[in-house]
Amino acid sequence: MKLVFHGACREIGRSCIEIQEGGSRVLLDAGMKVHDHAEPVRVSGPFDAVILSHAHLDHSGALPTLQRHRPVPVYCTFPTVPLATLLLEDSEKVAMKRGHTPHFSAREMKALEKNTIPVPYRNEYEIAEEASFSFSDAGHIPGSAITAFHGSEKTLVYTGDYKLSPTRLHAGADLPKAADVLVTESTYSEKELPDRKKLERDFCDGVRDVVESGLTALIPCFAVGRTQEILQVLEAGGITGAWIQGMGTKVCGILSDYPSYISSPRALAKALDESRFIETRKQARKVLEEPGVIIATAGMLDGGPALGYLIELNKTGKGKVFLTGFQVPGTNGRRLLEEGVVKTERGRLKINIAAEFYNFSAHSSRDDLFKTVERLSPEKVFCIHGDEPACIAFAEELREKGFEARAPQAGEAFEA
Ligand SMILES: [Zn+2]
Ligand SMILES: [Zn+2]
Repeated sequence: MKLVFHGACREIGRSCIEIQEGGSRVLLDAGMKVHDHAEPVRVSGPFDAVILSHAHLDHSGALPTLQRHRPVPVYCTFPTVPLATLLLEDSEKVAMKRGHTPHFSAREMKALEKNTIPVPYRNEYEIAEEASFSFSDAGHIPGSAITAFHGSEKTLVYTGDYKLSPTRLHAGADLPKAADVLVTESTYSEKELPDRKKLERDFCDGVRDVVESGLTALIPCFAVGRTQEILQVLEAGGITGAWIQGMGTKVCGILSDYPSYISSPRALAKALDESRFIETRKQARKVLEEPGVIIATAGMLDGGPALGYLIELNKTGKGKVFLTGFQVPGTNGRRLLEEGVVKTERGRLKINIAAEFYNFSAHSSRDDLFKTVERLSPEKVFCIHGDEPACIAFAEELREKGFEARAPQAGEAFEA
């Protein structure tokens, strides 16, 4: 088995690992660099198959371009199909709006839809000669998967993005039993994440205080997973009647078709029943007339209704922002936290209302990353999908524990 690392090497974005086995070439993910300048990973085929871990664009963004010259089957879980389609189509809409050249054509998108093969968790699929795989739940977003790839002699486990411990939306990741080779994400290898129960309590207390003092709590949320989790967190904390707007509402609709991919469809349905969807401009104006809670996309304030509400609340001073996920450098969310400004179509805007960050991360904490490596006990470990210091330090610490570990660079190839 030979591995070629095309992306997510000492960075987050462009996830793409090639496996060469018995004359076949298979890709694990084919993503794009999402922020600043969106840029799909560059690889040249032909490939026999792509195994897609989950819908996020840093893993799926290059899938349509791979269909340009010949059809390539793409395997993923059932909810990943509509979720990836939604995110890919939205990314092209945003690119066009900003005057960027589209990364793929409608024809390529159609080809991708035609060649996508949804498969359930825990079933073995033969995809090429001497190559089969199975998925298990990664606990990261609905439909996310850990891949166990079986070659002629070795088993490679690719974690994709995963969360080992449970959240309100997911049970924790369902790890395969063992691995000869492990390709692991490294996002939080240097950081412990806050205790979820305490985080939820602090978050609800903060939101409640804001509403009780007559202001609006603006909660920017990622559309897939975070919007739904935050709805459940608020409902469990006794805060009902939140307004929701943006792509997150579409995702709520999609998830209702795949109840088995979240841990409590009833809890989500209850939270949704007690929320209010903003569908018209008139409603959008009205919600700001009284204190309340608004959950809106985009999660990093780079456009969408969340940015619109921020601009409006900044004029009146009657609001507070609750960021609920990691804010990538170069995004409005990060600018707001570090410099108190955001970029709008009219230039930089000084924000005078308060903003707080609550890390509802969908990734594994440092402890859990190490626990997983120890549990799978692989001969070789490759640390990817983290910023440069995180990938390097993770590999270094694993070597100190006796594992053969490295943080590959883009383009590097290894015999596994
Ligand atoms: Zn992800
Ligand atoms: Zn990712």
